[in-house]
Amino acid sequence: MNTVLSLTGISKSFGKIPILHGVDLEVHDGEILSLLGPSGCGKTTLLRIIGGFERPDRGRVVLAGKDITDVPPHRRPVNIVFQRYLLFPHLSVFDNVAFGLRIDKVGKQDIERRVREALELVGLEELADRRATQLSGGQSQRISLARALVKRPKVLLLDEPLSALDQKVRINMQAELRRIHRETGTTFVYVTHDQQEAMSLSNRVVVMNAGRIEQIGTPAEVYHRSATKFVSGFVGDANLMAVEVLDSAGDGAEVKVVETGQRLRLRQTLPQRNATLVVRPELLRLSTAADEGLSGTISDIAFLGSCVQFHVDLDGMTLRVQEPVGGTPLTHDVGDSVGVVLPDHPVHVLTD
Ligand code: ATP
Repeated sequence: MNTVLSLTGISKSFGKIPILHGVDLEVHDGEILSLLGPSGCGKTTLLRIIGGFERPDRGRVVLAGKDITDVPPHRRPVNIVFQRYLLFPHLSVFDNVAFGLRIDKVGKQDIERRVREALELVGLEELADRRATQLSGGQSQRISLARALVKRPKVLLLDEPLSALDQKVRINMQAELRRIHRETGTTFVYVTHDQQEAMSLSNRVVVMNAGRIEQIGTPAEVYHRSATKFVSGFVGDANLMAVEVLDSAGDGAEVKVVETGQRLRLRQTLPQRNATLVVRPELLRLSTAADEGLSGTISDIAFLGSCVQFHVDLDGMTLRVQEPVGGTPLTHDVGDSVGVVLPDHPVHVLTD
């Protein structure tokens, strides 16, 4: 995998407040890489450093083998798409997209061809003559994309580009972004705080927390093999169960759940005395036999469409269990005593 962009030791403070703490990151050529994290964790600041809108206090930015740390934004072969589409209202769609090419003094015929291609790419060639003010939110964001892509950037930076759109348009635009990415092969670095969006769009996800990278991995890796408690809780939902290992030999382990004191047999060995099990709600199963697995009482039931979510109160802890609906009527009710059964396969474990 070729690296197109590398960040090394990036630190940044605003006044006395440190925002980024020595971030190292390699972006692969042609991938969609998402920077995912809660509000304020520094993802936009990192993106702005790549774009040249902020200067890091320490660290280097290298793009296609060239150190661009001190290169101003307009001289960098990157373009950025913002959350709010900053189109020129008095210009037509065509002129908005052509704007950057005119500044670069690209020839008239080339501009005509490239703008048409870019508008076709985002599926809006018929709107070329429209004023920018006469567009819907989704259309405006497509034009912003066309305007950025027409410059053929080495890396396209996207800062929460879909968050101002309503849910339906957003899902639609996610598919559009995947298609545009496939057709252009451009490297995307995509900032979002929405884990569903990061997972569905990206080849790799960078999970950030308080100015540091907690994990970099494919969506499946960060979901199934989260490196930290923070990642497991931020990417999807996870039950975290602290356990004390009582015995571990052969193909299994006997553990005690710290919070409830209940014992549990696992299909895996656990080398350390203390561990935290990370169990996704959809991996747990309810049993009507209260003595199978961990015993508890259903305290809440929520129908989520493709599945039903149960809250099961154990002595001192609540587990979330998701079961597929599958057309069968609900057999459980609030107040029922149930067993919560772990999967037959090894579960993901974090050792402290
Ligand atoms: P969000 O999703 O809310 O945009 P983020 O992870 O992108 O969050 P940043 O925008 O990078 O976070 O901001 C990180 C922190 O830096 C925040 O606390 C923010 O208030 C602060 N910050 C950002 N830009 C500046 C600035 N120019 N001056 C001072 N503080 C800033």
